[in-house]
Amino acid sequence: CYILALETSCDETSVAVIEDGKVIRSNVVSSQIETHKAFGGVVPEVASRKHVESITLIIEQAVREAGLGLGDLSAIAVTQGPGLVGALLIGLVAAKSLASTLGLPLIGVHHIAGHIYANALVHELEYPLLALVVSGGHTELVHVEAPGRFRIIGRTRDDAAGEAYDKVARALGLPYPGGPHVDRLAAEADSALPLPRAWLEPESYDFSFSGLKSAVLAALNTARMKGVELPADQVARGFQESVLDVLTEKAIRAVRETGSRQLLLAGGVAANRGLRTRLEERCAEAGIPLLVPPLSLCTDNAAMIGAAAFLKWERGQFAPPYLKAEPSLSLEDWSVQ
Ligand code: ATP
Ligand code: MG
Ligand code: FE
Repeated sequence: CYILALETSCDETSVAVIEDGKVIRSNVVSSQIETHKAFGGVVPEVASRKHVESITLIIEQAVREAGLGLGDLSAIAVTQGPGLVGALLIGLVAAKSLASTLGLPLIGVHHIAGHIYANALVHELEYPLLALVVSGGHTELVHVEAPGRFRIIGRTRDDAAGEAYDKVARALGLPYPGGPHVDRLAAEADSALPLPRAWLEPESYDFSFSGLKSAVLAALNTARMKGVELPADQVARGFQESVLDVLTEKAIRAVRETGSRQLLLAGGVAANRGLRTRLEERCAEAGIPLLVPPLSLCTDNAAMIGAAAFLKWERGQFAPPYLKAEPSLSLEDWSVQ
C-alpha cells in the first residue's frame, strides 16, 4: 500500500509517500524557519499562510519523487493534532479534498504518535517499549504496550524540553530555533555552570524545566548586574547537563519498571548530540536496546506521519470525511482499538 501523508502542524510543510508502513518513497520537507527567525519564534498566522502557499506544490513533488501517480495511492493521512489550529487546518483541507476526489480512505494521525513511529521506518520495534518524547511542545515518557497502544506515564508540568532550549538560547542571544546552537556550544565547553536538577517526587516520571530556565536567567542577570558576561558555552553546558541527567535517569528507570524491551527516542530534541551520546552510554551500561531515528526523521516531517498512519490502515480504522483539527488531541485516545 502507498500512503500519502501530510504534516502541517507547526512550521514545516511536509508531504511523504510511505510504502507498506516501512519504505520512504519520498519525504519532502519545506521549513519556514527562515521566515519565523525574524520574529524569534513561530507566528501562527504567518505559518498558515506559508502552508497555503506551498502545500499543493509539495504534494505534487512528493508524488513525483515517489515515482508514482495520484492513481497509485491507497490512502491519505494527515496530522490531525496537536499543533497550531490554523496550520493543522491547511493540511486537513488538502487531505480531505484529495481523499474525496480520489475516493480514498482518510487517516487522521496524532503528531506525537508520528514522532514515536519515525523509529519504525528504520528499526524493528519490539513490544512493550518505552518512548522518550522530547520535542518543541512535549516532554513525555510513553509506554507502548502493543503496536499503537499508548500510555503516558510521565509528562512535563511546565515547559517542554525544546521550549526550554529555545528560551535559554534566546537569553544567550542565539538565533531561533536555539536548540542546535545550545547543543553545539555545550559540546565546546570545558566546564559547566552549576545548575539545579528537577527530580520532583522520587517515584515520579514527570518533568519540570521552567525552574532550570529561571535559574539560567537569574545567573545571567546577576552576572550582568556586576558587569560580567558569563561564558555562553559554560551556561549551555550547565543547562544541557541538567536536562540530560533528568531525562536519561527517568527514562532508564521507566524502562526497568515497565519491563520494556526497547527505549525509543523521539521528537525534535532527539537530534541533540549530547542527549544521543548520553543515552547510548547509559543504555549500553544498563543493557537496554536504544533506538534513535536519523536526524532527518527527528524534527517534523510527513514520513513519520505516514508510518503512524499505517497502524490505522492495517486495522481499517479510517477517519470520517468531516475529520476536524484537534489542537490538543490526546495521544492515549488516539491509540488503535
Ligand atoms: P511538537 O512536536 O511537540 O508539536 P514541534 O513539532 O514544534 O513540537 P519538533 O519539530 O519536534 O517540535 O522539535 C523542534 C524543537 O527541537 C525545537 O525546540 C528545537 O530547538 C529542538 N531541537 C532541534 N535540534 C536540537 C538539538 N540539536 N538540541 C536541542 N534541541 C533541538
Ligand atoms: Mg518545527
Ligand atoms: Fe513535532
